[in-house]
Amino acid sequence: MRAFEASMYRAKRIPAWSFSIDNTLFRTEAVKRAGGFPIEDPASADTILRKNLFKLGYRWLTDSTLISGHYRKNFLEQLKHQAKSFELARYSWSSSPETSSAPRRFISLLGGNPVHVLNMTLQSRMLRVPLAWYTLRLQRGLYLALPHENKAVRAVPMDDWYLTKFVRAVTSSRRSVRGANGEANNSHSADKTCTWCGQRAGFAYSVPQDWENILPKLRPGIGRVFFACSDLHAEKIASKIFKDAFDYVTFSPPMRLKPGGT
Ligand SMILES: [Zn+2]
Repeated sequence: MRAFEASMYRAKRIPAWSFSIDNTLFRTEAVKRAGGFPIEDPASADTILRKNLFKLGYRWLTDSTLISGHYRKNFLEQLKHQAKSFELARYSWSSSPETSSAPRRFISLLGGNPVHVLNMTLQSRMLRVPLAWYTLRLQRGLYLALPHENKAVRAVPMDDWYLTKFVRAVTSSRRSVRGANGEANNSHSADKTCTWCGQRAGFAYSVPQDWENILPKLRPGIGRVFFACSDLHAEKIASKIFKDAFDYVTFSPPMRLKPGGT
């Protein structure tokens, strides 16, 4: 397990928005206010708590330099844990709008990109790494492929803080696709159009690598690099990508029911 995570961490394949309940310091007062540990889904306490905190206007910040090292004792324990979580969970969480597409599900079922698995094996120098990876992925894939009643896929809750962070990262990647004299640098850049308004686009923007997995890869028009006429339109495109991928939660004061019902 350590080999998987270490490899993902080094390759920056752990998404920028990742979070867990394990490496988080909580303000107990905030958690008490959000309250109500979910009976609806015992396996998703963290994600549901996160959404409730966002609604109350709290932030959830993850320090990605903190590494939590409590792995399960052995592979079999991990396999059992995964099976148990699937069984208990009423929701599965996704940040990839395209996971419902058949081709991607198929690739995922087969274990994802084989290059990553090869890299993990080489870096860890352990031949059991690919075997373990494919076993875990196959278990996950088979589970997701089975029909489930009362189970649903939900988008991960996100707030304004992450939205701003993402939009800033995208707009700061701006590159000009024209020369200083306004002429196209090459024959290809002349026909670039703004993904938002369709006008001629002067700039190329790219989505940072650690946010890449939220891209709707099978939809035409928005890829890792997209074109826009201005920072304003790039911001609109980035924020649309974000809101499509996540359950965007804004502060909403809870409605209080008056005791006694009068
Ligand atoms: Zn535009």
